Amino acid sequence: MSAQLIDGKALAAQVTETLQKSLDSLAAGGRVPHLVPVLVGDVPASRMYMKMQQNACRALGIDFTPVTLSEDISQEDLENEIAKINADPAVTGIILQMPLPAGLDGRRAQRLIDAKKDVEGVSPASLGAVVLADESMAPTTARAAFELAKSTGVKIEGAEVVIVGHSEIVGKPLALLFLKELGTTTVCHVATKDLAFHTRRADILCVAVGKAGLITADMIKPGAVVIDIGINRVPKLDDSGKPVIDEKGKAVKVTVGDVDFDAAQSIAGWITPVPGGVGQMTVAMLMSNTIRAAQVQFGA
Ligand code: NAP
Repeated sequence: MSAQLIDGKALAAQVTETLQKSLDSLAAGGRVPHLVPVLVGDVPASRMYMKMQQNACRALGIDFTPVTLSEDISQEDLENEIAKINADPAVTGIILQMPLPAGLDGRRAQRLIDAKKDVEGVSPASLGAVVLADESMAPTTARAAFELAKSTGVKIEGAEVVIVGHSEIVGKPLALLFLKELGTTTVCHVATKDLAFHTRRADILCVAVGKAGLITADMIKPGAVVIDIGINRVPKLDDSGKPVIDEKGKAVKVTVGDVDFDAAQSIAGWITPVPGGVGQMTVAMLMSNTIRAAQVQFGA
């Protein structure tokens, strides 16, 4: 058996098409959402994510103004910058790009983002709303993983759903999204005694850890839906298993998830590729949250 690929790019394109209609009706009233991502220092992965945000905003016609702060900024100055952007009525959406340089408390700074402008869904108000079964401003990655699982048509009600990773902005809210649809949800973490025991029972398995190869084929139930959220940069290997070296003598790296994709494909029923799965959909969910936040602020 070979798993069906869950195509994040195709699903993101479908979502974007429906978003364009909401955006057009805002624009007809002369109102355009304005997204401001804040980058501290120079983090290549964050730059890449910001480029994806910029492309998505451009395609939809959303204003986009990146703000870059020095990597030496103090916590107090960073928090003052966030307060300034919070207070700017021309800005309808704010993202603080993570991770921050060592010494800065990213979660503390994220908590200061005005809940109305918190398009990543990381403020206490947005996360609390998910507990109350209101996912309209749920964290973007959790929403993306959930929508991708739903797109398979596999019934969530009564399904065994196992989530590996219990972070505040991915694992925990994702568990709540499945719980709302009456999935029987188990959350595994670093203290879970027998991870494979849980993952093998999963009809829907979502993995958000950041460890390449954590989930091997023998840990997957035949036919399961596998949503791989992890992003890892690992050395590219040639056919003999040796690292590929580029012309400058540097090891070539590739992006992989937390699941051993090649082996898992022959066991799972559906699986997301990395890249091309959750990441693509996360940007679409960010656009969705950005438009929703603007609608609320414009009273539309
Ligand atoms: P995180 O805050 O570092 O959380 C990782 C979670 O994994 C923690 O709950 C941790 O538990 C748990 N964990 C660590 N080792 C484990 C193990 N051996 N077995 C089971 N659980 C273990 O990371 P995150 O922000 O949730 O992100 C997780 C991954 O998703 C990362 O690779 C990140 O790059 C990726 N990500 C992807 C997207 C996307 O758009 N595709 C977006 C966001 C994040 P403890 O806290 O108890 O150690």
